Amino acid sequence: MMCASCSGTGTVRCSSCNGRGQTQRLTISGDMDISPCLACAGRGQVPCQFCGGRGVIGSSQPSAPPARKRGLASDKLEGRWNGPSGNWYEFVREGENYGVKEGSPLGQTGHGSAKLKADLVKLNIENSSLGKYSFELRLIGDRLEGQLQIMGMVMPISLNRG
Ligand SMILES: [Zn+2]
Ligand SMILES: [Zn+2]
Repeated sequence: MMCASCSGTGTVRCSSCNGRGQTQRLTISGDMDISPCLACAGRGQVPCQFCGGRGVIGSSQPSAPPARKRGLASDKLEGRWNGPSGNWYEFVREGENYGVKEGSPLGQTGHGSAKLKADLVKLNIENSSLGKYSFELRLIGDRLEGQLQIMGMVMPISLNRG
């Protein structure tokens, strides 16, 4: 999740010098004494305290090591599938079936399980705000296609392998 304090840049404007990188003060003799700001070493920017200069908050685990992902490519379903609006489903093999995580661009929104039979994936999801729901997706190469019915609405779902 992006750090809101620094807008993901990892640095914020130095408050000691207001981002100028130098401090000005009037000497006793009335001259303007300009010296590099000590707080930011003249850079005008200091590392964001909120995120420790990383620009993101929380664990950086969603970006799984690529080596692991390649190793699982033999499984038809396992891995992450992304929808057009940034929603995603992640399947992890658990015996005969799969554990499922459901998420939006903001993070995980639900969890559940899935069964793969031929090219049909049956999902049972428990969403943190919508409650439990089930639906089916058809596996077509690197796509998952189907429909989702929630509270009387039918929404088409199309996911691409992430
Ligand atoms: Zn920050
Ligand atoms: Zn400064």
